[in-house]
Amino acid sequence: MNISVSRSTSAAILSRLDTLAHLSESDDGLTRQYLSVEHRKANELVGSWMREAGMRVHQDAIGNIIGRYEGEHEGAPALLIGSHLDTVVMAGKYDGMLGVVTAIQCVQDLHNRGIQMPFAIEVIGFADEEGVRFQSTYLGSRAIAGTFRKELLEARDANGMTMADALRAFGLDPSQINTAAKRSEDVIAYLELHIEQGPVLESKGEPVGVVTAIAGATRRLVTLSGVAGHAGTVPMDHRQDALLAAAECSLAVEKVAAKRTHCVATVGRMEVSPGATNVIPGSVTFSIDIRADEDVKRTEALAELDPWLTKIAENRGCTLNVETVHEADSVACAPWIVRQIENAISTDKSRVVRLPSGAGHDAAAMADLTDVGMIFVRCAGGISHNPDETITEADAGTGADLLLQIIENFRVEDHSCSIEST
Ligand SMILES: [Zn+2]
Repeated sequence: MNISVSRSTSAAILSRLDTLAHLSESDDGLTRQYLSVEHRKANELVGSWMREAGMRVHQDAIGNIIGRYEGEHEGAPALLIGSHLDTVVMAGKYDGMLGVVTAIQCVQDLHNRGIQMPFAIEVIGFADEEGVRFQSTYLGSRAIAGTFRKELLEARDANGMTMADALRAFGLDPSQINTAAKRSEDVIAYLELHIEQGPVLESKGEPVGVVTAIAGATRRLVTLSGVAGHAGTVPMDHRQDALLAAAECSLAVEKVAAKRTHCVATVGRMEVSPGATNVIPGSVTFSIDIRADEDVKRTEALAELDPWLTKIAENRGCTLNVETVHEADSVACAPWIVRQIENAISTDKSRVVRLPSGAGHDAAAMADLTDVGMIFVRCAGGISHNPDETITEADAGTGADLLLQIIENFRVEDHSCSIEST
């Protein structure tokens, strides 16, 4: 990369992330939920950094903070660059915030050099991505994409407060949320820089990578019903043990995912009834979370799994009930943006790490509005949603270099172009 942010810039990025991390609802770890006092303070702080970088700042009707850096012509369509400012409970300080702070630094660099692009740049700090407070994700990006569902205004937080009341307490008007939506003709694309939250870049020894797609996901609840019985008196060949059936089913879940690339599946919850040491498990309910970069892979994995589970249940004399509780399609990053990110990472394509994102991101919601692209930055041990989440100053600098280079070379291309598969 031939454009380079100074070392002081990467230090400034980390220093700002440290400052933001102090805006926490709890003293022992970072927790900053949507529409909290700390959210307001974070918006004020980030807004002040945006102004310093030459941007005009406003807070929209759902609580996103947005800075606009005009292009050569006032009112030109904008390249949107964003990530989120809310956190999970006991979060790390890079998830989301790194993308916002890095984007501001890039604009600051353009501003310092007196450079304006043929397009405007809007940096967005999304108000809610994690969905901790109202159990619904992407509230900020959905409002901008015009896909916010009004019924969510009646969702309640853990204290029984509705989202509509929380918006009012924050000084916003819930009836105006539709005004946060952008028109697609005012936007040229959406970019997001985010920590990887996984171990792939670290294992490949690369500081940055390009995201090809945000995985789609299916979540199911499976209930197996057998016969509870005395653990001492029922012979092994007379049992209808629901937990043993569930154990076999879990292994089947592992196998259907493991044989497909970029497909992952998890049995993360299991409830055993009656759950006593001396009773044969009579019924078990467990969760399945299965994700893949392409929907067809997920569909095929599930089509293979379904008859397998039925057979396992039959063999063990159990009945099976399967309920789908969540379904989200994968979102492909736009090939023409992927290519521009690849070109900025290296002229040697073989060195560029391309990877799907198993986690959801604001980019998934923004794809309803415009073409999206994502950059991942390496994080230590792939650890995230954890106070131990960390990145190096050097990697923060590489991420900022990369984003700046992409901005300075950004060209809107024919959306129908395809990329070579690898
Ligand atoms: Zn995030």
